[in-house]
Amino acid sequence: MELYVHIPFCVRKCRYCDFYSLPNGGQVPEAEDYVRALLRELDSRKEEIGGSGFTSIFVGGGTPTVLSCKDLETLITGIFDGAPVTRDAEITVECNPGTLDTEKLTLMRQLGVNRLSIGLQSAANAELKALGRIHTYEEFLKNYETARKVGFCNINVDLMSGIPGQTIESFERTLRTVAGLEPEHISVYSLILEEGTPLYSDVEAGRILLPGEDADRQMYELTGKVLAEYGYERYEISNYARPGHRCRHNMGYWTGEEYLGLGPAAASYLRDKSGNGVITEESVRQEQGGQAGNFGGRIDYAVMYRYKNPPDITAYIADPVGVRTVEERLEKKDLMSEYMILRLRLTGGADREEFRKLFGNTMDEIFGDTIRKYTGLGLLEDRGDCVALTEKGFDVANSVMCEFI
Ligand code: SF4
Repeated sequence: MELYVHIPFCVRKCRYCDFYSLPNGGQVPEAEDYVRALLRELDSRKEEIGGSGFTSIFVGGGTPTVLSCKDLETLITGIFDGAPVTRDAEITVECNPGTLDTEKLTLMRQLGVNRLSIGLQSAANAELKALGRIHTYEEFLKNYETARKVGFCNINVDLMSGIPGQTIESFERTLRTVAGLEPEHISVYSLILEEGTPLYSDVEAGRILLPGEDADRQMYELTGKVLAEYGYERYEISNYARPGHRCRHNMGYWTGEEYLGLGPAAASYLRDKSGNGVITEESVRQEQGGQAGNFGGRIDYAVMYRYKNPPDITAYIADPVGVRTVEERLEKKDLMSEYMILRLRLTGGADREEFRKLFGNTMDEIFGDTIRKYTGLGLLEDRGDCVALTEKGFDVANSVMCEFI
């Protein structure tokens, strides 16, 4: 099982952001109460967590590094004291330049954080300003070098394409500048224009122009090409890693791992623990009128629940245990769709044998028509043991994935 901890504080709100985060100007007066509430929620979920331990912990936001050293220490030691964590767990803290210094980086390293995910977005200061980010490239560079000095040897840098004022050339400069620093992992997301944000209003009113779809597509193609030159392998639509440095936490999301999310707006994805919803070889045999073959007893996919904490920090601090609600119950049919949608994000694709073992049906029985249709259109590649998006398919991934619902 994986753990996600949401820290909904930021120095100020970026112009494109619709995540649940509260701009606090760098001061977080309620942080102490908030951290205490997170640890109370963790404590209350002991039964769900079980004894095998978290294989990954991701402290995300917001900007977790707006927390003071004292609050970060209380949080991280509290997690280790409150729940089992495997010895080789990946422990990531998301951070933003402008909220880091040597003391905080050293402390995180000492507390056992072994991966940083730094939100740079662009190496061009004019583009950072257009996004409303609080930092400059020079501040990022200083933080990055300090992080290396204090011993972080697994760092992700987040970049963005489609920024107002960004050109193909400036984007390529950002890619080459960052790849030249040799972080272990680079994520490159397209800017998504979210309704209700200041950037959305400016674009709607014609005050700001975005690079456009064509440029965005060119930037996407360029990303794979340039990062490959620097030894990065694309393993997911937007994620690139040096060998051995895929993000284990996100890989968990894409491969159906259970996760517990703490904090307002955090989601959890957990097995039905009652045992009623467990799909067994016998239940598949009954469902198929006694026709199911021998799956070696390995069909053990349970009905899953998606839970959500409401995006309300006041309600959360008042009652961190009771606010959670069930958002969705995922039955076998939903889980089969979800398997395809998530696996197709990965360059490794969806595995036929794994699918059969999980669900007791072959992938072709359930999705054969769709697979044939998109293979014919050159958007999917049938590799025999698995099915994966082609380069062309990655460009229109969302519309292909919709067909598996
Ligand atoms: S730092 Fe991230 S979470 Fe915070 S406002 Fe900016 S985009 Fe949103």
